[in-house]
Amino acid sequence: MPYLKEPEPLRRKSEVVVPGIRRIVANNPSVMTYHGTNTYLIDDEQGTTVLDPGPLDEAHLHDVLEAVSGRVTRILLTHTHSDHVGNAAALRQATGAPIYSHVISAEPHRPDVPLSAGDTVAGMTVVHTPGHAADHVCFARGDGLLFSGDHVMGWSSTVVGPPHGNMKDYLESLRALRQRSDRLYLPGHGPALPDPHPYIDDLLRHRIDRETEIVATLRKRPMSPTDVARHLYAKLDPTLSRAAERNVLSHLDKLAAEGRVEQIGELWRSVEDEWESGSSMERRGF
Ligand SMILES: [Zn+2]
Repeated sequence: MPYLKEPEPLRRKSEVVVPGIRRIVANNPSVMTYHGTNTYLIDDEQGTTVLDPGPLDEAHLHDVLEAVSGRVTRILLTHTHSDHVGNAAALRQATGAPIYSHVISAEPHRPDVPLSAGDTVAGMTVVHTPGHAADHVCFARGDGLLFSGDHVMGWSSTVVGPPHGNMKDYLESLRALRQRSDRLYLPGHGPALPDPHPYIDDLLRHRIDRETEIVATLRKRPMSPTDVARHLYAKLDPTLSRAAERNVLSHLDKLAAEGRVEQIGELWRSVEDEWESGSSMERRGF
């Protein structure tokens, strides 16, 4: 995959990304979060909309409040994973600004203003993009700019795993963005992503290839998800093995729903070969 990297961003200060939108990166760098969570400050005549206030972190809250020019008019969340929602309640308390997030936001978070697909907020359209998280939304500005959260990030592929992730939803949400004409994505981590369509095509291909590999691996012998992950991601950084296993698990769930693999106790096996054999067809009632 042709991933987009960037040097370590300025710490504790906001930087202009495009006119009217600044980014201040939280200090939570890791293999999962890259340099940290992007908190976006969207300035207009009324004040500042804060999109993804970041992880629970007093210093980051202080820096965001410092960077805000006038009043904070609203707090938007792309989804309710802790590295995005953590500081939301404290920012709300400090500013009185209401929190907007998807109507099915994961417990215990409750939005002040629940959002649904197609709603307009801060002049942007809400695009529901479940997959990484069931409550994930993107915000599209209408001039080709889209806040893509953790659904599409240029620096890395997205973890799609239980309990909140769903591979089938994720692929459908990718295809839904592919249908749109947005030209610049501002993701939840890492740099802005211009010309997103070829990148989305790569992401889709990458997942379909993974799926084919998983089925091929299971055709050799039944395996546990851990074994499959080890098999597929042989060169993987050990700190990412749990994420890899979650990705594999959600692929297996999707493949099972499609009748291509099945689970027997701890192990999973391919059932594709048997589609050709009469005994399996009989067993399936054909
Ligand atoms: Zn994140």
